[in-house]
Amino acid sequence: MSLTGKSAVVTGSTSGIGLAIARGFARDGANVVLNGFGKPEEIEATRTTIESEFGVRAAYSPADLTKPDEIGGLIALATETFGSVDILVNNAGVQYVSPIEDFPLEKWDQIIALNLSSAFHTMRAAIPHMKAKGWGRIINTASAHSLVASPYKSAYVAAKHGIAGLTKSAALELATFGITVNCISPGYVWTPLVESQIPDTMKARGLTKEQVIEDVLLKAQPTKEFVTVDQVAALAVFLCGDGASQITGANLAMDGGWTAQ
Ligand code: NAD
Repeated sequence: MSLTGKSAVVTGSTSGIGLAIARGFARDGANVVLNGFGKPEEIEATRTTIESEFGVRAAYSPADLTKPDEIGGLIALATETFGSVDILVNNAGVQYVSPIEDFPLEKWDQIIALNLSSAFHTMRAAIPHMKAKGWGRIINTASAHSLVASPYKSAYVAAKHGIAGLTKSAALELATFGITVNCISPGYVWTPLVESQIPDTMKARGLTKEQVIEDVLLKAQPTKEFVTVDQVAALAVFLCGDGASQITGANLAMDGGWTAQ
């Protein structure tokens, strides 16, 4: 229970990777602030299950992270409810698949706002609290697409390369304050985000669902297996421990060998 007494904000934690990370922190004793969209009754069930399963407290913020003025409220919820924000995971993200010339402008703006700018806004609000305590952990869920590109994912690749750079800059600024800043860069993880992009990829490339899975998604991943959400969560928990205090500014790939190629 190495995280007992800490509080963690995990953006985009009503589903997928973020939910697994929030549950991983709670299992290790942290109080957590959940955030993201979904059916209210399902989110409430997720929240109460975390509390009863792990004996911690869990709060929920519905903040839309494409709206900077809602992000202050997310960090304030953590400090007002738990007295601090010790751990911040910028995880919320969406994908859109299209050739650049057809890429809807509002999709570009949404992906840059959510997958990149929201991390700047959360960090800006949380860093003073971490500095005051002389301890903090910031983890950004980037992607293999922070290191390499794929066609038809221009906004996503631009945002993810951006968050890798933001991570390095923040790590250098915060290196002497007991605050580490790192990215985790998963390859393909089987979550709703991956499942939901299959129809658009089928359309953009003229492929069947099976062909998208075998020839597009797992083609890039030498192990030919999807990463699991629990594997990503285990790395996030490790990054919060004492053993990781000298890891900062790193972009940690968990991609079955994809970016080794
Ligand atoms: P997901 O769709 O399961 O979860 C996304 C979460 O973000 C959900 O909780 C959703 O409600 C939330 N969200 C969406 N729009 C939001 C908004 N405007 N404000 C606040 N929350 C919002 O997806 P996932 O696969 O778990 O992805 C999580 C992160 O991991 C993303 O940043 C994604 O880019 C990254 N990632 C995913 C994969 C993968 O293969 N699944 C690979 C590499 C990186």
